[in-house]
Amino acid sequence: MTQLLRHQLIETALAMNASGLNQGTSGNLSARCDDGFLITPSGMDYAGLSTTDIVWMDLDGNTRGTRKPSSEWRFHAAIYQDRPEANAVLHAHSVSCSALACLNKGIPAFHYMVAIAGGRNIRCADYATFGTPELSEFVIKALRGRKACLMAHHGLTCFEKDLPRALALAIEVEHLASVYSHILTIGDAEILADEEMDKVLDKFSSYGLQTVKNTV
Ligand code: 13P
Ligand code: ZN
Repeated sequence: MTQLLRHQLIETALAMNASGLNQGTSGNLSARCDDGFLITPSGMDYAGLSTTDIVWMDLDGNTRGTRKPSSEWRFHAAIYQDRPEANAVLHAHSVSCSALACLNKGIPAFHYMVAIAGGRNIRCADYATFGTPELSEFVIKALRGRKACLMAHHGLTCFEKDLPRALALAIEVEHLASVYSHILTIGDAEILADEEMDKVLDKFSSYGLQTVKNTV
């Protein structure tokens, strides 16, 4: 089981790069496992990762493995602690999310798909130095009632119930950020009313990614 999850983590990390969400050694990915989680190692290119490079940690930061865990293990651990529904956490420095986050902007309800993150908007977490407990605190706050947030002067973080869904959510949020950034260059975004977003959120409770294992 752990071995299978290690393989899935590497496959998803490679898919993160292939999708254009990530480049170089920025970003990190984890999956809940036993009483802790498996996480990508710090500062290592995903191409060429082997399962022994993946680090297991408990929620207090005690590690098992030969590599140093991602420097962002604290907010991954905080999400698993705070959100029992989270089984996979993805963090990336994707271009459009990072651009908005560098303006300290979240994503308002300019498009109904913003509801994919669980609420009427996607917040931007306050800035704190990477890897710090303060950053974890700000990320947890920005994720309140949401599955995704931007992070000021940094990037994007999201979680889902599994790795494929976390990747799909990150790609969707990056697309929304890209469209919203485009709108900001041509005019003022028109924001959908709260009542409309509440209708969409209601519909989204029975709408989502269908997989071969998940039929009606
Ligand atoms: P790691 O390589 O330590 O995971 O750091 C990448 C990153 O995105 C830090 O915010
Ligand atoms: Zn980062």
